[in-house]
Amino acid sequence: MRVQNLIGGDWVDGASTIDVEDPSTGELIGRAPAASPEDVARALAAAGSVRQAWASAAPAERERLVRRVADELERRRDDLVSTLSREGGRPLREARGEVDKAITTFRYYGGLAGSLDGRAVGAGTGYRHETRREPIGTVVAITPWNVPAASPARKLAPAMLAGAPIILKPASATPLTAALMVQAIADAGAPAGAVQLVAGSGRTVGGALVSASDIAAVTFTGSTEVGLQLQAQLSGRLVRTQLELGGKNAAIVLEDADLGRAAEVIVAAAYASAGQQCTATSRVIVQRSVAGELTDAILDRVGRLVVGPTDDEATTMGPLIDRAQVEATAGFVDRATAQGAAAVHGGKVLPGPGHYYAPTVLTGVKPDMEIAREEVFGPVLAVLEVDDEDEALRVCNDTVYGLAAAIHTRDLARAQALSERIDCGVVAVNGPTAGIDLPLPFGGFKLSGTATKEHGPESMEFFTRTKLVSWRS
Ligand code: NAP
Repeated sequence: MRVQNLIGGDWVDGASTIDVEDPSTGELIGRAPAASPEDVARALAAAGSVRQAWASAAPAERERLVRRVADELERRRDDLVSTLSREGGRPLREARGEVDKAITTFRYYGGLAGSLDGRAVGAGTGYRHETRREPIGTVVAITPWNVPAASPARKLAPAMLAGAPIILKPASATPLTAALMVQAIADAGAPAGAVQLVAGSGRTVGGALVSASDIAAVTFTGSTEVGLQLQAQLSGRLVRTQLELGGKNAAIVLEDADLGRAAEVIVAAAYASAGQQCTATSRVIVQRSVAGELTDAILDRVGRLVVGPTDDEATTMGPLIDRAQVEATAGFVDRATAQGAAAVHGGKVLPGPGHYYAPTVLTGVKPDMEIAREEVFGPVLAVLEVDDEDEALRVCNDTVYGLAAAIHTRDLARAQALSERIDCGVVAVNGPTAGIDLPLPFGGFKLSGTATKEHGPESMEFFTRTKLVSWRS
């Protein structure tokens, strides 16, 4: 499969190409363009040219367009699922779920034109006042490989509804899914320059887009490391910035929890996408009195995971995205065991072809170990034992991240009290840390993000600005 960038209204090749690999096999499956500096400049100019007309289009017209995109995506669902599954390394059932999420996102924003309404305020002093919601201006969107359809959808759909021209720079590992999505947007009738695709390396193409003087906003989803670099690059400029970053998500399990149910959702959230989700459960913080029973229940379920290539319907856990991710995961596990943790399941690289690491459970983990503090982004679950819920809360909050947490207990008053003190943007009670869905506002605290929410009506705040108009007759 070979795809092109969309710049202005033209599908174009790049200065060079990016090879796209199937992580299940290591085979080359496609090529995408790497944009040149001239491509980036042309995309920025095209966004500037369409900006006024796109902002002036009636919100209801843009809303209809966003709904047509959902229809176009629906028509090519099978193609999107197989492409996402192959390049993104997600088992088919997960790929279907993600593509459906992307379609739902467009359907959702395709009914939200009312969120752009202004209001009349404070009449009676000889003036009439009104507020208007205007599009923010040109937006740069940079997305990661682990959610190749849903992450672009969460940025493209609200930007389109707002009338803000948006330039998408997808991850270099997964540009094919992004190209199919942008093709659907073009086929739905988006004006030239309103939505553009500029694939290429993060450092060069992403860096050039973020450095441009004529952008109004950057929405970035990716690692905390790159997010902080971007924020430094943007400092001193009033460019609105949304950062959705990494996590070190914990499931707290209290002694009165339904342990079977807790194990079920913990395993689902820890090993989906082979642990490569920002919201993956990577720590279990369990009261000591039930730690053995919970660990056995987790091990029972982990033992039933089927690791294999993504196109096999029997597979429940696919590969990691590339060899570097396998090596990084192995490094975390090796250092954890050297520090005294025990790999009671997995703990090893699996043979190829493809990039596989065994689903791993580590016990005997202490809060000061690297494995309890750093994001692994692989299929590794660290079990930490605590005496009571105060200690559970302290351990839960004792990381630089603040994305998602879960509390498992039958006592909803305890859950309520804990939820108020957990320093995370998302808290689930008796549910998984991963898989939060529309139309709920999503985003992390601390080094997990800027707390500017994605999903839901809150997202429209990011893509719009409010103007006050005062009238005197
Ligand atoms: P990443 O390495 O930070 O890359 C993310 C995107 O940034 C890619 O498109 C990448 O391009 C680009 N990029 C890299 N360096 C750049 C630079 N200097 N300037 C501009 N752009 C640059 O992250 P990843 O490995 O793709 O994704 C995994 C991370 O994303 C994890 O930490 C995960 O927790 C986080 N994540 C967070 C959320 C959330 O909502 N909070 C959701 C999903 C993932 P290239 O691909 O070309 O390098």
